[in-house]
Amino acid sequence: MTTLPSHARAVVIGGGIVGCSTAYHLARLGWRDVVLLERGALSCGTTWHAAGLVGQLRSHANMTQLIRYSTELYSSLEAETGQATGWTRCGSLSVARTAERLTQLQRTASMARGFGVEAEMIGLDEAKRRWPLMRTDDLTGAVWLPGDGKANPADVTAALSRGARAGGVKIVEKVKVTGVNTAGGAVVGVTTTDGDIGCEVVVNCAGLWAREVGRLAGVSVPLHPVEHMYMVTKPFDGVPRDLPVMRDPDGHIYFKEEVGGIVMGGFEPVAKPWLSRDYPEDFVFTLLHEDWRQFEILMTNAIIRVPALETAPVQRLVNGPESFTPDNQFLLGEAPELKRFFVGAGFNSAGIASAGGAGKALAEWIVEGRPTMDLWPVDIRRFAGWHANERWLRERMVEAPGLHYAVAYPLRDYKTGRGLRRSPLQDRLAAKGAVFGSKMGWERANWFATGGAPAETLYSFGAQNWMPYSAEEHRAARETVAVFDQTSFSKFLLEGRDAEAVLQRLCTNDVAVRPGKVVYTGLLNAHGGYESDLTVTRLGNDAYLIVTGTAQSTRDADWIGRNIPDGAQARLTDITSSRAVLAVMGPNSRTLLGRLTDTDLTNAAFPFGTMQQIAIGSAPAWALRVTYVGELGWELYIPVECASSVYDAITEAGADLGLRDAGYYALDSLRLEKGYRAWGHEVTPDDTPLEAGLEFAIKLDKTPPFLGREAVLTQRARGIPKRLVTFTLRDKDARPWGDEPIWRDGALVGWVTSAAFGHTLGCPVVMGYVRNAVGVDQRFIESGNYEIEIAGARVKADPHLRAPYDPAGARVRT
Ligand SMILES: Cc1cc2nc3c(=O)[nH]c(=O)nc-3n(C[C@H](O)[C@H](O)[C@H](O)COP(=O)(O)OP(=O)(O)OC[C@H]3O[C@@H](n4cnc5c(N)ncnc54)[C@H](O)[C@@H]3O)c2cc1C
Repeated sequence: MTTLPSHARAVVIGGGIVGCSTAYHLARLGWRDVVLLERGALSCGTTWHAAGLVGQLRSHANMTQLIRYSTELYSSLEAETGQATGWTRCGSLSVARTAERLTQLQRTASMARGFGVEAEMIGLDEAKRRWPLMRTDDLTGAVWLPGDGKANPADVTAALSRGARAGGVKIVEKVKVTGVNTAGGAVVGVTTTDGDIGCEVVVNCAGLWAREVGRLAGVSVPLHPVEHMYMVTKPFDGVPRDLPVMRDPDGHIYFKEEVGGIVMGGFEPVAKPWLSRDYPEDFVFTLLHEDWRQFEILMTNAIIRVPALETAPVQRLVNGPESFTPDNQFLLGEAPELKRFFVGAGFNSAGIASAGGAGKALAEWIVEGRPTMDLWPVDIRRFAGWHANERWLRERMVEAPGLHYAVAYPLRDYKTGRGLRRSPLQDRLAAKGAVFGSKMGWERANWFATGGAPAETLYSFGAQNWMPYSAEEHRAARETVAVFDQTSFSKFLLEGRDAEAVLQRLCTNDVAVRPGKVVYTGLLNAHGGYESDLTVTRLGNDAYLIVTGTAQSTRDADWIGRNIPDGAQARLTDITSSRAVLAVMGPNSRTLLGRLTDTDLTNAAFPFGTMQQIAIGSAPAWALRVTYVGELGWELYIPVECASSVYDAITEAGADLGLRDAGYYALDSLRLEKGYRAWGHEVTPDDTPLEAGLEFAIKLDKTPPFLGREAVLTQRARGIPKRLVTFTLRDKDARPWGDEPIWRDGALVGWVTSAAFGHTLGCPVVMGYVRNAVGVDQRFIESGNYEIEIAGARVKADPHLRAPYDPAGARVRT
């Protein structure tokens, strides 16, 4: 039996690359009293058999930054610890077999430039020169990323553990955590096969076991193991030792050199989930059975790309379980269910590449009590408890891994795991041609295929088939009236004597308003970055309705809940499932709703930014006069059981008023024309109200001051290094989709955060931050010549600090 300490500041569960990296970084941040427990031996889970590819580029700037940090760390660890990592900066090559894939690679190269990663489109001769064994006559192009590389996973883990030990971390192998002890909703220790350890923080880095470990603590960790494979050949002639990594995503495959042979693996389009639970106790340095049938699609494609593989001597087929998540992004952060219980797991076959940066980010989160950069794409709070449902995960796991190498079409959605959460209007909308997308498990109408058009989105990097239909919906909202089903909004009640005090402290805007006022507000952290933006409606003296985005329900409930002081009388209740939401928007909305209610809807009686309890037909509704499309309109919050009758009444009353059903794609183009920001895009923890241009929603002089006020004041005195700008593109045929670089006077100044075609303006509209280290002001913004780079081509763009459509907001307040 190993002697365990009776107490530690942090216990890290799992000695794979992620646990070791987290422990290493905790030590680097000065935490000495850290214990890492491993049920087998270091790297015995998934880490030891990984292929070790390290590709830097991700679809989010901060995620790319994390991997770039991994490459720097892996290249310096040997000097620091004396343990080699096998890191080689061999570069990587991705090739395209089709025109669509070539467009994707061009977009990739553009995006890489925007995120500060070196990338260059190269000709096929050059590709062949870099990878002589490759067949190129059937290819359309290639991209070269010189900073990519490969590492030896077990060696990196050994180096990290050595560095961690040197920093004071106690690493104990052959000890399994069997329980997580809690008190008052927080972690107080763990139970292990060798006794208990009391601790302040538990970090769950248990790889594919992380869901089980989460369950010990009542924490949902949505991941599922999938069989993941690569083949290793013996050395053969013609394999240079400095061969770059090569990816042929159309063939679902990658290649790398290893001791004079080739490692070839990939992502089958139809993946093979492993066990959902009850993993064998003795699963230590264990592989799964070879499955050549499952591997066949990769093998067939590999021989097409590298014909020499047909006769190359095969050494073995490695098949190991790797954990995948529902959206192919890893899981990081403090669990919303349990204070001081952190998770770093579910690495979707990118754990070696990500571990350096992810371990650092997680350690910073633990030490500082908050993430030090926007980590929303990987934040565990993007999921809800039900996401850990085994059946649901198993279904999604057939599809998710294969999407790594599928063409990354804009707006691409999952086909599996659909239909769980439905609005009461789903069948009605489907009968009218609704094409649904999914968010947080909800089915939501993206657009309506009218006139007998097939109800299916056809993906493309150019114009997609839904655009003409969405354009009609957009025009209805601008010119007549449209109805949007927004039932998936996250809705909360905050009730109790202290509700006002709690919200006044959290909200940038003044919410000490009379009942019936609707307030748009940000919620900031102490550093002035956005934790959320939402609307708060005062229902009564002691009750507020809080409405926020569909994807933010777990995160916002967590943030608000954490910030209710002990002893305060304020109770937060999620009422999402009890109210449907219909937004009736457009110049004819008053006439339409006037036919269904006796309430006076005139501007004087029902001004913008107010709420009244009204009757719509025979049904009760909270009617909020607000808009996200920039037109006169009301959002109606209706008891779920009344939603269908209200919808039918609206449809009938609007028949002669030009009413159309409208979906989320129209909503996006409408809001971009009006310059309205979206959470996770323009408004994130990395952005402040001054940078986002949302000063109108902060009240710096209210008492008590809101959380983050000091940081805002400091920034106001110093000046801002970036500013959100809306751009209209001069080429109406250009198709930006997001993440495109923004150039100002020939210098890179940022990237696009949201993009759509503005059907009223008749051109594409995008938003993005313009950066300048020495400060950004109106003169800087307006004096530049701008271009947006789309798939390598630059398109001229005009900047707008106010909405390019209806800048005075006159139409909203009529
Ligand atoms: C075939 C294959 C190829 C891959 N190729 C690549 C690649 O090229 N590039 C890349 O970046 N990634 C790749 N990966 C993915 C990569 O291997 C993983 O993402 C990474 O190893 C995950 O590390 P981890 O620390 O999260 O998990 P693990 O390495 O599994 O570590 C978790 C540890 O927790 C321990 N543990 C579990 N439960 C407990 C408990 N209750 N108490 C104590 N200890 C516990 C386990 O024993 C295990 O050692 C590949 C994966 C596979 C399967």
